[in-house]
Amino acid sequence: MDISIIVPCYNEEEVMKIFHEKTTEVLDNMNVSYELIFVDDGSKDDTLNAIKRISVDDENATYISFSRNFGKEAAIYAGFCSAKGAYVAVMDADLQDPPELLPQMLDILKSGEYDSVATRRVDRIGEPPIRSWFARMFYKIINKISDTDIVDGARDYRMMRRDVVQAIVEMQEYNRFSKGIFGWVGFRTYWLSYENVNRVAGETKWSFWRLFKYAIDGIINFSQVPLSIASWFGIIMTIVAFLAVVWFVVRKLMFGNPVDGWASTVSIITFIGGIQLFCMGIMGQYIAKTYLEVKKRPHYIVADSNRKE
Ligand code: UDP
Ligand code: MG
Repeated sequence: MDISIIVPCYNEEEVMKIFHEKTTEVLDNMNVSYELIFVDDGSKDDTLNAIKRISVDDENATYISFSRNFGKEAAIYAGFCSAKGAYVAVMDADLQDPPELLPQMLDILKSGEYDSVATRRVDRIGEPPIRSWFARMFYKIINKISDTDIVDGARDYRMMRRDVVQAIVEMQEYNRFSKGIFGWVGFRTYWLSYENVNRVAGETKWSFWRLFKYAIDGIINFSQVPLSIASWFGIIMTIVAFLAVVWFVVRKLMFGNPVDGWASTVSIITFIGGIQLFCMGIMGQYIAKTYLEVKKRPHYIVADSNRKE
């Protein structure tokens, strides 16, 4: 088997057929043996039936179907665990990842100079401006505070060699943030740029709120810096408090002790209370992640599949 293509699918009934047509057209012209691994991430619409129909006609098309929605990261992981190809690619089902790039990706890998070909889109045309702004901020922040390089505009559309896949499969963490994981495992990565393509049909599964939570997850999974914010606040507050004490003593000695200052006392108490809760919140986020990791729950549960393991 030359290439395994992993396709996470969640409520994609409108695009399955056209995705399959376009992608196999490209693959058939490449003269390689390949398998398509459709991972149905607990879709609530007719996606699974659409995939099953495809796999009846096309012997290269296989599927894994989850018992519920476990998220795109889990779907990709399931694909990685099951893929048999010498090269493994991840592609969205909505044709936002142009299949026309596959031959080029394979050539780059076959040249032997790179282990992994990643893609990034050079523009964010067709995206709401607020979302673009938040996305840019996210990449700025995470690259400042994390040791792992996370590229702005990077997509999950990639092709990589077996070794890279093996390294990713060995990272069994429960909280998976692919963009970070790909960066973390390293290897020689070639970046292909292309212009943003809109999805052919259906709707994005990522609401603003879901993306926001994903961004926070990414930061917490790949950086310990937020934790040290708590210590820094502590140090700064201690210095401020010390200076304040000195000032109060001096003022008492020089001017006596007029009884007032209720407002300032209350302000200080609420301010410090706020910072304390904020810091506890940060720690809580890490503890929650740790809690999920120690439970060692499976990443996904397979309800149906036609793959021979
Ligand atoms: N997806 C998934 N599980 C989810 C959400 C999304 O498998 O819980 C899949 C989805 O079917 C698609 C890919 O992940 O193939 C990317 O999703 P989408 O196109 O909605 O994201 P966008 O391209 O807008 O970032
Ligand atoms: Mg998409």
